[in-house]
Amino acid sequence: MATRGRGSRFDAIVVGGGLAGIAAASRLAESGRTVALIEKRERLGGSSAMSGGWFALSGTALQRRGGIDDSDAVFLADMIRTGAGFADEKLLAALVAQQASAIAAIDRANAWTDELKVSAGMTIPRAHLVRIRQLLDHLERAAVRAGARIFTGSPADGIVLEGTRVSGIRSGGDLLTAEGGVILTTGGFSRSRELLDLFVPDQADAMPYGGVGNTGDGLRMAWMLGAGLADIGHVSGTYGQHADTSDDEHELLTANYLGAIMVNSVGERFTDESESYKILGSAVLNQPGRMAFQIFDARVRAVSRPGVPLSDMDRIEELGHLVSAPTIAELAQRIGLSSEALEGTVRRYNEMAAGRGEHEPIRTGLVNGIGALTPLMTGPFYAYPAVTAMTSTYGGLSVGPDTSVRRVDGSRIEGLYAAGEVVGGFHGASYMTGTALTKALVFGFEAADAIARG
Ligand SMILES: Cc1cc2nc3c(=O)[nH]c(=O)nc-3n(C[C@H](O)[C@H](O)[C@H](O)COP(=O)(O)OP(=O)(O)OC[C@H]3O[C@@H](n4cnc5c(N)ncnc54)[C@H](O)[C@@H]3O)c2cc1C
Repeated sequence: MATRGRGSRFDAIVVGGGLAGIAAASRLAESGRTVALIEKRERLGGSSAMSGGWFALSGTALQRRGGIDDSDAVFLADMIRTGAGFADEKLLAALVAQQASAIAAIDRANAWTDELKVSAGMTIPRAHLVRIRQLLDHLERAAVRAGARIFTGSPADGIVLEGTRVSGIRSGGDLLTAEGGVILTTGGFSRSRELLDLFVPDQADAMPYGGVGNTGDGLRMAWMLGAGLADIGHVSGTYGQHADTSDDEHELLTANYLGAIMVNSVGERFTDESESYKILGSAVLNQPGRMAFQIFDARVRAVSRPGVPLSDMDRIEELGHLVSAPTIAELAQRIGLSSEALEGTVRRYNEMAAGRGEHEPIRTGLVNGIGALTPLMTGPFYAYPAVTAMTSTYGGLSVGPDTSVRRVDGSRIEGLYAAGEVVGGFHGASYMTGTALTKALVFGFEAADAIARG
């Protein structure tokens, strides 16, 4: 990193170039601050660039156009309920109160699509599909135009203190100093087997996923200064990805929210398929072979949304990862299950969907209790074999609503801020679709503003 001498002093240093980091760097540069964005990998993006692009937002123009009457209060209540009382309500209230900054950024990047749906944790359609790469590119261009210095291939490996105040970072042999503060936006630890074994050993066998650089570096660096942690014990993998998925393009499918059932490798249902895909992720890790098939019929296949992450069965079929057959019995043979077992499971599920019989586990809706169940009766029939992937780790550093990092005793570590997936406290026990990207964008901006406020 060519940063020696005068070039190594900045008003602020942002560590990690995903959505939170790029947002922070752009906001700082546009407000006239000198800022360095330090990225470990050769290119920016992290998990953000791989993500589905769903943002949880309330009161948007798209909701109004669709006649959806959402409000900040309902959004907040849904997040609190989804977190089962473990999330930090002050952080959630700040997220809702400041979501206008995210909406404005998506407006400026012209990155909206018309896709709006109800998804995990929501009582109302609130998941907005955003062209995430367009948003990231727009923010990066804005940062560079305003003078931000971006250093790729430069992992930060230590935080520097002056007394008890954070004054900079080390990266390799380089020392970068920051007058106003350092913002950690290094993402989660989904790629660190060591940290998963330490914090959530029951999840450690999930398929490693997320940004390849996301090994918990920011968490460790802040931890060494006494930072507290939040939500770590609730970290959970996400169900719905093929075991052969590449690093660059995720293959998450939640056909279960469209009417598919989930069966294990002995052909049995074992969970309420309408639950959050994080809860499903844990349930699948406890099944034989740690996998489950999404089984559906032609009616469910027909509601595939090409190009829409989580609902794109066409793409999965193109990749050769969807198995089909004219009957349930033949489908069972093709995927190595007993025909009798799968036929029995589908028959009993269909009786439950028609309001007859009690098939355990009980399911009352398609997603989150919403949407009428439909029997699986119309061939051809399909199976998508999927595992639990550790896409993201929604536990991390303790912060205040202004993104200042807090020690174990709640006191501030002066000069240190954190935003995005490296932070805990937002999700508690479970996860509402789209809140990770919203929080990365909202609090990336807020971290920059906190430094600017001084
Ligand atoms: C497949 C997939 C789909 C997803 N879909 C959604 C979705 O639709 N909606 C949603 O809300 N969430 C989704 N998520 C989660 C969401 O993408 C992430 O939580 C969010 O993007 C995190 O943003 P971030 O800026 O905090 O971190 P990231 O985007 O991961 O960026 C962190 C960056 O920090 C860098 N870094 C790490 N260590 C260092 C270091 N020592 N020095 C310098 N740089 C470092 C990393 O290389 C990386 O570039 C998904 C995640 C995955 C993997």
